[in-house]
Amino acid sequence: MPGFFKKAEFQDDSFKTQRSYSCFSCGLCDDVTAPKIKPYGKFGKFILIIGDAPLESSKAKGNPWKGQSGRLLKNTLNSFGIDLYEDCLSINAVNCRPPNDRLPDNNEVICCRNVHVFKTIEKYNPHVILLLGNSALFSFLGHRWKRKLGGIDKWRGWNIPDVDYKAWVCPIFHPSFVISQDRKEVLVIWKNDIDKALKKVKEKLARYKEPTINYITDLSPLNDIKIGMSAFDYETTGLKPHLQIQKIVCASIAYDENHVYVFPMPNKKK
Ligand code: SF4
Repeated sequence: MPGFFKKAEFQDDSFKTQRSYSCFSCGLCDDVTAPKIKPYGKFGKFILIIGDAPLESSKAKGNPWKGQSGRLLKNTLNSFGIDLYEDCLSINAVNCRPPNDRLPDNNEVICCRNVHVFKTIEKYNPHVILLLGNSALFSFLGHRWKRKLGGIDKWRGWNIPDVDYKAWVCPIFHPSFVISQDRKEVLVIWKNDIDKALKKVKEKLARYKEPTINYITDLSPLNDIKIGMSAFDYETTGLKPHLQIQKIVCASIAYDENHVYVFPMPNKKK
């Protein structure tokens, strides 16, 4: 598991660009007959499904899961006792249909993330979030993951506790990808991923507590740390701390899961 998501650790620097992302800068709503499709489903089991984009066939009634992909998803969820429309809420990474049912580009996804996706998450507080495919993955994680995000094939199958949104985040393949592959093993992997994700519906999220951090210059409290499991970290003046010219600047010792001492490194041994 990549670990607990937490904004402060993973947020990228895009906010520094001061660029505004809006429907105006996205533009997808300009040419569609049914723009800004509303979230669909009764959300009985607090499952949020994020797909990629509305299709031509789904625009009339707002149901994002018409067609072959929708049937596959609906039937697969049914086989695990979940009703797509009664138990889940469905939205897409973009809320308006791109021309010719193409996939949305990154700019459109970023715009709709701000305009629609995260507002919906904050409004409904889902317990499980299924990210279906690359657009959904990029929508939910693209701005929060500093490192190279990669694609859904890297992330699928993880069930990640998101500390900020208090939800299990479960990336899986989009059903249209599963259909396009037409391979039994892909279908098996996909169903296994869904099965694992749906088990989180009844599993509480572990509570993450911010540790108490004590900044000290007098190191005598360190003598009172009881022998047992503890963790330490240190910061140095360079990336190759083993070189003689480098120095340790400060260090920290966590002596239990909720308490940490942080201290500047003394110049001389005491
Ligand atoms: S896709 Fe989203 S951001 Fe783009 S125009 Fe539609 S609602 Fe606005």
